[in-house]
Amino acid sequence: MGTLKRFLLVVVATLGSIAMAADGVPRITDREIADVSNTADWLAYGRNHNEQRFSPLTDIDTKSVSDLGVSWYLDLPNDVGLVATPLVLDGVLYFTGTMNVVRAVDATSGELLWEYDPRVADEIRGRKQAGMVHNRGLAIYGDKLFAATWDGRLLALSLDQGELIWSTRTFDLGEPLYITGAPKAFKGKVLIGNGGTENGAARGFVSAYDAETGDLAWRFHIVPGNPADGFENAAMEMAAETWTGKWWEQGGGGNAWHGFTYDEELDAIYIGTGNGSPWNQKMRSPGGGDNLFLCSIVALDPDTGEYLWHYQTTPGETWDYNSNMDIVLADLEIDGETVKALLHAPKNGFFYVIDRTDGRLISADAFADVNWATHVDLETGRPVEREGARYEDGREVITPSPLGAHSWHAMSYNPGTGLVYLPTLHLSTDFDDTTFEEETYKPAPFELNTAVGFLMGPQPRDYQGELQAWDPVEKRQVWSVPQAEPWGSGTLTTAGNLVFQGETSGWFKAYDAKTGDELWSFDTGLGISAPPITYRIDGVQYVAVLVGFGGAYAARMGEGPEAHGWAYGVHKRRLIAFALGAESEVPTQPPPYFPEPIVEADFEVDEELALEGEELYLVKMCIGCHGGEAIAGGMAPDLRASAMTLSETEPVFRSIVRDGARVSRAMPAFPDLTDRQLEALRQYIRRQAHAAAMGD
Ligand code: CA
Repeated sequence: MGTLKRFLLVVVATLGSIAMAADGVPRITDREIADVSNTADWLAYGRNHNEQRFSPLTDIDTKSVSDLGVSWYLDLPNDVGLVATPLVLDGVLYFTGTMNVVRAVDATSGELLWEYDPRVADEIRGRKQAGMVHNRGLAIYGDKLFAATWDGRLLALSLDQGELIWSTRTFDLGEPLYITGAPKAFKGKVLIGNGGTENGAARGFVSAYDAETGDLAWRFHIVPGNPADGFENAAMEMAAETWTGKWWEQGGGGNAWHGFTYDEELDAIYIGTGNGSPWNQKMRSPGGGDNLFLCSIVALDPDTGEYLWHYQTTPGETWDYNSNMDIVLADLEIDGETVKALLHAPKNGFFYVIDRTDGRLISADAFADVNWATHVDLETGRPVEREGARYEDGREVITPSPLGAHSWHAMSYNPGTGLVYLPTLHLSTDFDDTTFEEETYKPAPFELNTAVGFLMGPQPRDYQGELQAWDPVEKRQVWSVPQAEPWGSGTLTTAGNLVFQGETSGWFKAYDAKTGDELWSFDTGLGISAPPITYRIDGVQYVAVLVGFGGAYAARMGEGPEAHGWAYGVHKRRLIAFALGAESEVPTQPPPYFPEPIVEADFEVDEELALEGEELYLVKMCIGCHGGEAIAGGMAPDLRASAMTLSETEPVFRSIVRDGARVSRAMPAFPDLTDRQLEALRQYIRRQAHAAAMGD
């Protein structure tokens, strides 16, 4: 960037609200992050501390949006799934890509300024490692940029050079946990949690670190440990009253992998907590109980991490209905009074409006098909479950599915329209509780520990995705855009009366925020899973979005995501920025691609081994990236079409799976697999390849 341009940017920023030190380096405090009037930057995951993802910009509006075109793009050839919200400060756009690589680009041209590779592959080499390669974003505070890595590190980088200032481990390397989330920065601290509820006996926690030094400031556990070891605090003692059996041996869960909001007005940090470890409550807490603080919003003191209040959305959860979804703050007029509201649409299908001064439930209404509960009782604040919902009869089709009626795809709130723009999923699951024995069930690290079987259920509707506008005061849907495919991106809304969203289909669209009428669309040629942002520099409003199909649906669901043809390594992952009147050309993507399963001539499947392999494929979490039934959605190679699984390349297969020969591409090592287990896996993959080729 030229000196003059840099100088002008500094002047513009100074005229705005960004605090600058004498050296010209910005110093971001809570005041700047909370300031909704600053339109030059996008300083936090949800833009501002209120997480509304609302921009007051009006250059692009319902009339002008038809002139939106590509201003610039940046190709990311080595990336896979992209799910991050970029940040913008002082003319620089920061984002995380695959394997936690952090990049800074000129926000007006896409020119790469610096790149920081935390070398995750080196960190996990020779180990099993849970989790996924994608990451949802960054935080800025003071003069630093914060990132968290897959393997559990929290990093502070310099904003101008991307130099490592400090790095701290948030859990021991080798623990079956992972981070995909964006750190949350507030009051001189940086908070991060982790995922891993399904990867062994997990006990969730969040940790806050000093932003300057990286020293641990406080830690809050989400579920109680073994009472014999003593409780960390009174909140854990209270929570222990709601558990039964030897829950600590099963971990308990509650992992907070997403959903942190700092309330600058009321000085509280809200944590959206995870589901049970394992899912099946009978195995986790055999005598029942609410199992606090699973599936809750927990308000904590930001300085000390002390418990303030909680609201539990799914007491005694048993369906993976975590409450890790984003937490949006808004002032709402309800019955003639201004309510300091907290808006939350967790997996369980109810839209919650909570008074955030004390955690009192104001309303909870179904925003999707829900069959596990009939309604939420406003007197008790509790869901009223229907008979059979806990699959107490062994098998039960439950809606929503464990992917949720809403997942981490951010909803946005527009104070002008009073509406929430909510990416919604319509899926159901067939739970099967007939194969697990309470007496013998034991979770193992790095192994799938749901303790209940689950298969895709019949579809509740003839479409699987939806963008809906929800009125949190009137408690109803205002408009709806049904989408054939689920997993549409998070949303952005603006004072230009617009809503932006990317689709699994690859279309990026703008809608009228009041009516839901489609006003503009652009075919990116690859599924979009990341939420768009907007900012204004030198009089130009930009809308930027990362294009790169990713996340749990893409990784695990097999046949569904595979049908889009966003096969591994075929389409270019990209960052694209749009502006009015811009006419840059983006190279055309290859058409959807469907890998051909390879049939090995004269190969006789050993059915017994293949069955053993099928079990291993699930238990060892191969499914987590290579997809259900060995059908890949695009996050990893389709093994049925991989020459590495043929008999003549068996030694190569072994070196990849057992020795970690592809660890640089995020494939962990499984050093303790026996020769028989490796062959069983290979037999299963070959069986799936042959079956596909035969058309079954
Ligand atoms: Ca979960």
